[in-house]
Amino acid sequence: MECLFCKIINGEIPSKKVYEDETVYAFYDINPMAPVHVLIVPKQHIASVNDVTAENSAVISHIYEVAAQLAKELGIAESGYRVVTNCGKDAGQTVFHLHFHLLGGQPLKLEMC
Ligand code: AMP
Ligand code: ZN
Repeated sequence: MECLFCKIINGEIPSKKVYEDETVYAFYDINPMAPVHVLIVPKQHIASVNDVTAENSAVISHIYEVAAQLAKELGIAESGYRVVTNCGKDAGQTVFHLHFHLLGGQPLKLEMC
């Protein structure tokens, strides 16, 4: 499959891994927008939030558990952070494999749109 994040998950393309388990992979964003910028992705290929269903949504709650754990490990749990997922053109999604940006380590801009 010609999917960048599938290739990262299966090791075809290198990444700086932060966390991995049976269903989730997390790695540092190549173009960090904040001192801490990690991408948390389901190992299963789900293109975007548009493709989340009752059958595949369990991994989403697990991703939030991983986000909370990584925020503690990376030292941003107390200072605060943002978990963001972009869906589609207007949100600026560039990689069509569902991913959650974990951003922190500095005060983040408050604009939502
Ligand atoms: P989005 O714009 O929400 O689709 O986010 C895609 C993210 O993937 C961007 O923040 C990119 O910097 C990041 N990215 C693209 N290629 C790589 C890569 N090879 N390794 C790590 N992060 C990447
Ligand atoms: Zn994929």
